[in-house]
Amino acid sequence: MTIRKELFKSSIILSCSILIIFSILSSSFLYYAGISNAYVVIRQRNQAVNYFIAGYFTKIHNAVQFLASNRKIQNAPSLGANDLQDILNLYKSLEIADPDINYIYSGYKNGSLLINNYTPPEGYNSVVRPWYQEAIKSAPDISGGLPYKEIKTKEWLVSISKVLVDVENKINGVISIDCSIDTVANLLKKRGENYKSSYSFAVKPDGKILIHHENSALTKTVSDIINSSVRFDKKNGEFSYKLKDTYKLACYSRIDNIGWIIITVVDKSEIIKPIILQTFVSILIIGVVAVLLAWVLSASLSKRFIVPLIELKKSVNAIVTGNCDHDSGYEYPNNEIGTIATDIEQFTENELYNRNIELQTINEKLELLSITDQLTKLPNRHKINNELEKEWERAIRYKNSFSLIMIDIDWFKKINDTYGHQAGDSVLYEISQLMKNTLRSTDIVGRWGGEEFLVMCPETDLSGTKALAVKLCSTIENYQFTVGETITISAGLCEFDDNKSIEDMIKEADNNLYEAKRQGRNTVVHLTKGP
Ligand code: GH3
Ligand code: MG
Ligand code: MG
Repeated sequence: MTIRKELFKSSIILSCSILIIFSILSSSFLYYAGISNAYVVIRQRNQAVNYFIAGYFTKIHNAVQFLASNRKIQNAPSLGANDLQDILNLYKSLEIADPDINYIYSGYKNGSLLINNYTPPEGYNSVVRPWYQEAIKSAPDISGGLPYKEIKTKEWLVSISKVLVDVENKINGVISIDCSIDTVANLLKKRGENYKSSYSFAVKPDGKILIHHENSALTKTVSDIINSSVRFDKKNGEFSYKLKDTYKLACYSRIDNIGWIIITVVDKSEIIKPIILQTFVSILIIGVVAVLLAWVLSASLSKRFIVPLIELKKSVNAIVTGNCDHDSGYEYPNNEIGTIATDIEQFTENELYNRNIELQTINEKLELLSITDQLTKLPNRHKINNELEKEWERAIRYKNSFSLIMIDIDWFKKINDTYGHQAGDSVLYEISQLMKNTLRSTDIVGRWGGEEFLVMCPETDLSGTKALAVKLCSTIENYQFTVGETITISAGLCEFDDNKSIEDMIKEADNNLYEAKRQGRNTVVHLTKGP
């Protein structure tokens, strides 16, 4: 994997980790903020319903209190027709004054009923009616309210009733005002603006349901609906429950003067759905931003740190492979990587230059070794042959002359035999040095073989060469050798002639050397012989 990919991968891992952490934090924040916001909305609606119900029923309560304290109403069974009519007129005027009132009526312990526009069925007995019983139960207070089904119309009503007492404070009957539950319940089930699933209902402090838009609920308690018991011991509060696989959030508040509890409920899913959508959208946005950020981050890091390295790699590769034309025109950034890259480039160039110099020196040494005789340090036979060829061609081209001297040490075997091979070697070396020092700088002497040497004298005629050979002979003869012996040499000469090949010239010099040996050694011979 390239360093660029590594960097991109690390940036993605980093931004994804941040994304995950951020998503967890933001989704929990959104969840809790959403839920608490929902509670605020539910509470507000509940409060509004509370005010509405309080206003609606407080006046009913007040009317019941007012009627219960009326002497005529308290003692109606003992009154005459005119008084009874007065009572009914009073009921009538109150019913007209408040359209929320369905019926105002009073029942008495003798079973009679005082009511407008209603004819009780056959055998009707007020005492056994639920509203009557409820008032008796609540006596001497006003009843907490009772939902019941009207016997004839089958309409669900809520009755607020109170006992009527005579002068001796004995219960004489019950006064009751009925309101239609449907009217109130329909108002309470009206869908809220924020949450379509929201609705409200009213219960008595003991949990019995008083007003609910579903008539079937009117015979139940809150605990029956939510399958667990709830205590409404505070003025207001909240709770959650599960109803038929649906989670609900609920807020309750108490209506101070009548003690009823108003409950407003919302499906949790309706609250959660927008939160999930919001979380999803925010994670999506964060995700896109994170990927973009990772890309920008890795691109900018790559530009500042990776591109210089890639350029350095190319540059070093070009130097190492000898691609001198390489010039990308890239300028390293002005930071530590740029400095290091420039240094490495310079270092690689220097190192390569030094290596080349070293190699050149070694090559030169090797070349010198290949053309030098190791014992005498004179040019070897291979080298002297090359020089000979060059000189021969030059002589042909420029009509120059040059000569050869073939030299052989006299009785050299004896030196070896007498003083040993090493002494023989040192004699060979000493003679080589002597010859080199005696010759002119233009002359070349090389080791031809064992104890034989070949001297090449460019632009030198025979007489000059002979003089040089004689000088060599006498120099060696007069030299004090380490072995303490006088050592002589014999020499055979040959001068260039454009009829002679190199081989001819060597042969001639060799023949003359043989002749010098034959003549007794320590002499120079030149016998011109045609090829
Ligand atoms: P002549 O005067 O006829 O040339 O007698 P010579 O003894 O010099 O001739 P010969 O050819 O019989 O002997 C040459 C000797 O040189 C034989 C060989 O052992 C010796 N020799 C050749 N090369 C070397 C060398 O590199 N070192 C030593 N120490 N001896 C060498
Ligand atoms: Mg010899
Ligand atoms: Mg020899």
